Amino acid sequence: MHDRAVTKAPPLHRNLIAGRDVEAAGAEPLDVVCPSDGAVIARIQQSGAAEIDAAARAARQAFEGGWGLLTATERGRLLVKLSEAITAEGESLGALEALDTGKPISQGRADATAAARYFEFYGTSADKLHGDTIPFLNGYTVAVTREPHGVTGHIAPWNYPLQIVGRSVGAALACGNACVVKPAEDASLTALRVAQLAREVGFPDGALNVVTGLGSVAGAALSAHPGVDFMSFTGSPEVGTLVQQAAARHHAGVTLELGGKSPQIVFADADLDAAAPTLVKAIIQNGGQTCSAGSRVLIERRVFDDVARLLAPRFRALRAGPHDRDRDLGAMINAKQKRRVTGFIEAALRDGAPLLAEGAIDEDAPAGGFYVAPALLGPVARDARIAREEVFGPVLSLMPFDDEADAVALANGTDYGLVAGVWTNDAKRSMRVARAMRCGQVFVNGYGAGGGVELPFGGVKKSGHGREKGFEALYEFSAAKTIVIHHG
Ligand code: NAP
Ligand code: MG
Repeated sequence: MHDRAVTKAPPLHRNLIAGRDVEAAGAEPLDVVCPSDGAVIARIQQSGAAEIDAAARAARQAFEGGWGLLTATERGRLLVKLSEAITAEGESLGALEALDTGKPISQGRADATAAARYFEFYGTSADKLHGDTIPFLNGYTVAVTREPHGVTGHIAPWNYPLQIVGRSVGAALACGNACVVKPAEDASLTALRVAQLAREVGFPDGALNVVTGLGSVAGAALSAHPGVDFMSFTGSPEVGTLVQQAAARHHAGVTLELGGKSPQIVFADADLDAAAPTLVKAIIQNGGQTCSAGSRVLIERRVFDDVARLLAPRFRALRAGPHDRDRDLGAMINAKQKRRVTGFIEAALRDGAPLLAEGAIDEDAPAGGFYVAPALLGPVARDARIAREEVFGPVLSLMPFDDEADAVALANGTDYGLVAGVWTNDAKRSMRVARAMRCGQVFVNGYGAGGGVELPFGGVKKSGHGREKGFEALYEFSAAKTIVIHHG
């Protein structure tokens, strides 16, 4: 926070298109604000349809030229080099991520490590994505190959820019696609830096392009661009619908990762002491601004008070503060998000949800920062807004349930379905309940462990569709081609 002179003009960042740093024509650059104190720390290009078009053309050229001609092994080696470059710069990339998003510096560093791991994982996977042969009629051989889509568009949110760019671009590039990324206007700096690093380690021009700007302008232009063959979107359900509609007009496929209201189910037979720190971390990490945040804890009624007593002191001990002080959580991303989260908490309290515990904000935290004190609420009514809607902030709702069937119905009873946690020492029950969850990922006696670069991830219902992360993502970013050979 004290490492920059406020008198200096904030640096101007340019788009990276076809291997060159270019300015957007027509519109003034956008200010980039540090959520920890509200100061303007940089400016980014405010791009429009023209810049998106230039990037889509550059990507097409790369796909048909330099990038597209590489073997899978050569692509993989470049991705591994990019991973190494991110690791070498991990400290400063992590600091930049923290400055740009307000997240605690150690979370910024962890995000840089995870981004490096994504590029390593997909780099070493690139030449392992092999097809199949299929038994068919006599005299025929059938081969199924995996083909890249061509040009892929990536719209990223502000909560984990490094990680989400790593996971989606890493997999797309490994398959041989050329990419155009539109990062969130609130957090574009690390995506730009990753693209510069890709250029430095020798990616052919146009393989990875980053174009900054407003979602409603640059994001909309990217999803509507007929030269984009496939879209990967992470963000809100409302915008996800717009992206899918725009892509549908030119018949491009999409993956949508749209957040959740993920439950953690705590049965009375669980090791409650072991569960408690994870239940807190699952909502407090990144200030609750995590799509897979465990924002509902469903507790078997006869241990409800025990669990509440275990969680309350942990919540009281939580501190929010500037990113460089590395507290439990930083500021919310912007003023709008702070208003949204405090609005949810105030409405829940007005509706009668008891406030079981509240964390604190550093007393001397900069007044211009977007801080929210963590809140533990419970018992929360099942039909309350806070029990059903994604808050995207540090607020945890506790709800009692009666038996296994009730727990399953309650867990599955929102519009979302992204992740679930099951806490029990009954092995049969853990498998029954895990299988009954309507979502993309279930953790038993744990939650969100270790980032899970290797683990397929995605949602059902309002949480979206398609899978990213793990080897599974390579199937999303490629398509089967069936070659039928009649040789007699
Ligand atoms: P958002 O508006 O959906 O933003 C996500 C991305 O979409 C950003 O890059 C955004 O650009 C872009 N975008 C916005 N409007 C667009 C359009 N019409 N066409 C194409 N792209 C567009 O999400 P948000 O406003 O940042 O956050 C709102 C809520 O969404 C949060 O409170 C949270 O509930 C949810 N959310 C979920 C996730 C997740 O990981 N699932 C992540 C972030 C937010 P700009 O940033 O320039 O607007
Ligand atoms: Mg920012």
